Amino acid sequence: MLEGEISLQKDLLKEVYQSSPRLRKISFKELEEALEQGKLLYIEGLALPAFRFKRDWRGFSAGTVVAPGFLMPGFPHIPRIFVLYTGVPRYLRGPFYAEEKIEGYNVRLARLGGEIKAFTRRGFVCPFATDRWPDFLPRLPDFFDKFPQYVVCCEVAGPENPFVTEWPPYLKEDVGFFCFDILDLAHERFLPPEEKYALFKEFGFPMPEVNGPFSPNKLKTLKEILLRYETEGREGVVLKPISPQSGRVIKYVTAVSNISDLRVAFPYIGELDPNYIVHRLVRMVITRWELGEGFGDDFYRQVGEALFTEMPMILDQIAKGKPVEEVFQVRLRREESLEALLSHFRLAQVRVEVRQKKWQKGYLRVKFAKIYPRATSFWASKLEGLAQID
Ligand code: ATP
Repeated sequence: MLEGEISLQKDLLKEVYQSSPRLRKISFKELEEALEQGKLLYIEGLALPAFRFKRDWRGFSAGTVVAPGFLMPGFPHIPRIFVLYTGVPRYLRGPFYAEEKIEGYNVRLARLGGEIKAFTRRGFVCPFATDRWPDFLPRLPDFFDKFPQYVVCCEVAGPENPFVTEWPPYLKEDVGFFCFDILDLAHERFLPPEEKYALFKEFGFPMPEVNGPFSPNKLKTLKEILLRYETEGREGVVLKPISPQSGRVIKYVTAVSNISDLRVAFPYIGELDPNYIVHRLVRMVITRWELGEGFGDDFYRQVGEALFTEMPMILDQIAKGKPVEEVFQVRLRREESLEALLSHFRLAQVRVEVRQKKWQKGYLRVKFAKIYPRATSFWASKLEGLAQID
């Protein structure tokens, strides 16, 4: 980074620092060092100077966003249980709700300096969700007028999203926003489920399916719901205690969602930690065993198909010298959102090629490909005959 740029960012950081009692628990010098070392990063293009934490650092979680008078923690990781009958009573002591776990990507919607922005898990401004929230949450400005200190956490999911290639089976086009949490910044806590459901209802915010409350020792209904999700191809559940006294939030996913992960991951394995595959096989085998779903030919075929169906086509492409790529489509309300999305990909070092762009029924419909260099060289080096010691 240029000398002048870093010194400007340090001035802005000072302004943020002075406004924040939480940050002032750390010396400004340490914070400046974090900025120099790229642990704290300036967020471009906001009305107020803002920074995001790249990784967990000194009590701030990855994705925490700080600005004058504003500190929004990163969205916490949710521990996964593999078995309901032992896992649920281990972490939940009292009544809990089972919210559908939506397959998409996480954004935190907040009002900062008068603008409503969607922040990704890593604390980037998400140009796509920032463009599209008015279509799904038109009363969000009223909500922030009434609750400026709240943040709405939701999953953006659907076949036309710019980041993930899996989505809930009932979404046939475009995307949906599914609100599942409200974070109260003033008290750094999530609202209890019943309070947030009431607010989502009041403001007409769409939610994932919610079932319960359940008792940790009576899991028959929960098991039935999961078997239904399994046949419908839904991802799973996030179990949320009615209050912090009744336990902690945990997640549990269906076997079929693991199969679908295998399908979208195996061709791109060079981009991922190979353990990604092992973890999914382990989860799947335990879930099918616990829920009594059986291990017949049908299941073996599903796993094999998920892993290998696309591979001959991908290997053909690579053998012809073409890269591994994935095609995405999105609908945007504003042309400048496309520019913002493309510069987001540049910043995140994702190679993107726009393949098609047209206005249709009030939306800019864009088709683009992500090119995966590591996945390409993973397969290509083998096809080129290179030997490997393994
Ligand atoms: P995943 O569990 O999807 O593999 P991950 O590794 O990011 O993703 P966590 O860090 O535990 O997992 O986060 C849980 C994810 O589940 C978050 O990204 C969140 O957006 C998503 N999610 C979907 N539906 C819900 C819901 N109803 N409540 C809470 N989180 C949900």
